[in-house]
Amino acid sequence: MTGPNAAGRKYVPRPTGLNAEFYEAASGGALHLQRCSDCGRFRHPPRYYCAACGSGTYDWAQSDGQGLLFSWTVTHRAYDWGWADDLPYATGVVDIAEGVRVVGALEHVAPEELAIGLPVRAHLAPVEEGFVFISFRPR
Ligand SMILES: [Zn+2]
Repeated sequence: MTGPNAAGRKYVPRPTGLNAEFYEAASGGALHLQRCSDCGRFRHPPRYYCAACGSGTYDWAQSDGQGLLFSWTVTHRAYDWGWADDLPYATGVVDIAEGVRVVGALEHVAPEELAIGLPVRAHLAPVEEGFVFISFRPR
């Protein structure tokens, strides 16, 4: 096998554009969400224009990362060798209090304990410059 994961190392994305802005805002370890400067509505994943009012202006507002588990999947077979030692692992979609959904790993909870509506909080871990690993843990 060739490529970045031949030695079992996890692939690290190199975000560009609005995604790069999102990860730059999160680089200090706190979740930041894109917020419309005109109507105040949050949006995620980052987009150039507000779906509510059409404005193209925005800022990045810090969130405390609290939300409720909306859905999840448990991976039992690694599609990337870098994740083989983590099996089985869970990935979830979380309804963040600001009204957006964020995807992240689910940590510190056994897969059989996952439940719709489980209260969780985001945990951000900088991996490399330009990328932060997002996970959620029960609160
Ligand atoms: Zn707006």
